[in-house]
Amino acid sequence: MIRSSVDEDLLSICTCAACDQDPELAGAIRRAVGSGAESVEEALGDLAGPVLAGRRAATRRMLDAVADAAGGARLTVHAGLDRWGTGSFTTFGPGPLPVDALILSDPAAGALDAEAVAALASGSGAAVGAYVQAMPPQDPDGLAERWQALARAGITEFVIYHGGLLSAARSAAAAAALAAVRG
Ligand SMILES: [Zn+2]
Repeated sequence: MIRSSVDEDLLSICTCAACDQDPELAGAIRRAVGSGAESVEEALGDLAGPVLAGRRAATRRMLDAVADAAGGARLTVHAGLDRWGTGSFTTFGPGPLPVDALILSDPAAGALDAEAVAALASGSGAAVGAYVQAMPPQDPDGLAERWQALARAGITEFVIYHGGLLSAARSAAAAAALAAVRG
């Protein structure tokens, strides 16, 4: 059965005991799958707000548990911007969050202007970083310009994919790009 991206988002909402989603809401999520709605909000109607609040509470409990376990170590987490997003760049509530830095995917970071980065940083209370690509098909000659543009928008952390897999030439280009970002 072919499902829409809205169905995929709905099916990605965990309703397990640990996530503690209200059973009534879990039923509504199941019934909304296959509705043909254009957005998760449309599919869930009035229940979209409570479902989102439940998701944010669950991710917040997870972050708090990680922060407790970290015992003061510096914490950086991958984060997304799509409120219904899941996967490795999942989305957290607006904050303040108990982490030191939020690392956005390369495309998500590139889509933000300085105002949006500043709003994310002040809302989360965390630095905003980018998980930048240096592997093919990225043009190594374009890394410095691209990363400097991210830095100008307020991105202050760069996680480079993937230092250990870069050719010598790409590694040198990445080092030069980082030096350029540092000024
Ligand atoms: Zn769960």
